[in-house]
This record gives sequence, structure tokens and C-alpha cells, in this order.
Amino acid sequence: QLTLTGIDKHFGQFHAVRHLDLSVQSGELLALLGPSGSGKSTLLRLIAGLAVPDRGSIHFGDRDASTLSLAARRVGFVFQHYALFPHLDAFENIAFGLRAKPRSERPSEADLRKRVEHLLGLVQLKTHAHHLPAQLSGGQRQRIALARALAIEPSVLLLDEPFGALDARVRVDLRRELRRIHDDTGITTLFVTHDQDEAMELADRVVIMDHGRIEQVGTPEALHRDPRSRFVYEFLGPSN
Ligand code: ATP
Ligand code: MG
Repeated sequence: QLTLTGIDKHFGQFHAVRHLDLSVQSGELLALLGPSGSGKSTLLRLIAGLAVPDRGSIHFGDRDASTLSLAARRVGFVFQHYALFPHLDAFENIAFGLRAKPRSERPSEADLRKRVEHLLGLVQLKTHAHHLPAQLSGGQRQRIALARALAIEPSVLLLDEPFGALDARVRVDLRRELRRIHDDTGITTLFVTHDQDEAMELADRVVIMDHGRIEQVGTPEALHRDPRSRFVYEFLGPSN
């Protein structure tokens, strides 16, 4: 469904992503793990179309991403630091992407209302529809950011350490919620995290990156059972 072939990305002389190949199955939940600076965020930005590869190709199904507009990629993105619109309440933040659609694709006000309310339910914040971001907790803001990313019915959902700034208890709650939402919607999801437990618990497969390369891709069990390099072995540490 999502295929990256021979991707290279430089920033000046710096080689941030190196000859990277990756194939993500439709409906898969993939976690990206790796040290700081290993290229995880860059990879998501390339998939989202926020950066352009120097070499290689990205395909959504059989469509070459370089021929698709940003909107046509239909990628949902959630960053570590929620970028909700501060002057819009939760409802309007979620509705934003729907209201921004070209007239021909824009839902009626009634359909929009239905859809936003459904999404508020999905992230368990029906009661907070009219709270401004400043009146929400960090975890609640990330849930709204997630609902907003889901509003456009993305073909791929990209999450860049979405729970990174939250305390451990909230993270565990949101982790379960993400798994449930993923199981409900079946959206292909790439999830960057620094938290190994999070990756191992959530992901169908885990991608381990280092220095812009993929060191290994596999199910959590396979990575622990059969680390293919010293780096992966040491990065994962003793299995638990
Ligand atoms: P972290 O875990 O700290 O978020 P990461 O794996 O997401 O790290 P990236 O943000 O992808 O790492 O960055 C990979 C490398 O590319 C880093 O060394 C970074 O400094 C460099 N880099 C990323 N974006 C740019 C940019 N716009 N200009 C110059 N260098 C960049
Ligand atoms: Mg990053």
C-alpha cells in the first residue's frame, strides 16, 4: 500500500536518510524506533510531502507521490507538540480540515456535525467539544489533534511522538486508545516513539533506524528473538 524505494535525503552535506526501502501493508500499525537524529521525523515528513526526497520514489498504492498534491495524499499528521488552533474550540479544530475542502467535496453542515461528533466520541471527549485548547489538558489536546488528523479520513496516519510530552499514566491510556482506534478504523499508521514498551506493545511491526538507515524491520517478537546486528541487539537491550 505505501512503498518507499531507494530514498535519499540530504540537508546540505548531511545525509539524513540513506537508500531507504520500506513497504507498509494496508492497515498495518508500524512503530519507528531509533536514536535521536536517526531520521525518523524526516522519514515521516517525506511521506507527508512536507519534504522532497533527493532520490527514490514513494508510492501510495500504485500512485507515485511526486504526482500527487498534498491534499491528494490524504495524510493525517500529529506532532509531539500539538498544534491546535488556539482560538478554535475542540469541535472547530476537528472540523477545520473538512471546512477547508474544496466546495465539491465539502460535507453539508449536518454531515460535518455528525462526523465531528463521531470523532469526539472516538477519542472520548464528547463533553469537551466547546473547550478551547487552553482549557484542555495535554492528553486531551493530543486526543483532539488525533481526531483532527482522522477527520479527513486519511489513507495514512503519521504520528511523530504524539504522546512524548505527556506523563506516563496518560501515555498508557492514550496508547490503548490508539490501538482501539486503529483496530476500529484500520488506517495504515506510522508511529514514531522513543518508548520501546510503547512500540513493542502497539506495533504490528517495528522499524529500527540508525544514521538514516533501517537497521531492521520485524515483529516485536522477531526483533527480540533474532536481532540482525549488534546495534539492534544493544538498542533493544535485554528482552522482557
Ligand atoms: P529525534 O528522535 O530527536 O526526533 P529524528 O530521528 O526524528 O530525531 P530527524 O529529525 O529526522 O531525526 O533528523 C535527522 C537528522 O537530519 C538530524 O541530524 C537533523 O539535525 C537533520 N535535519 C533534519 N531536518 C533538517 C533540516 N530541515 N535542516 C537541516 N538538517 C536537518
Ligand atoms: Mg523526530
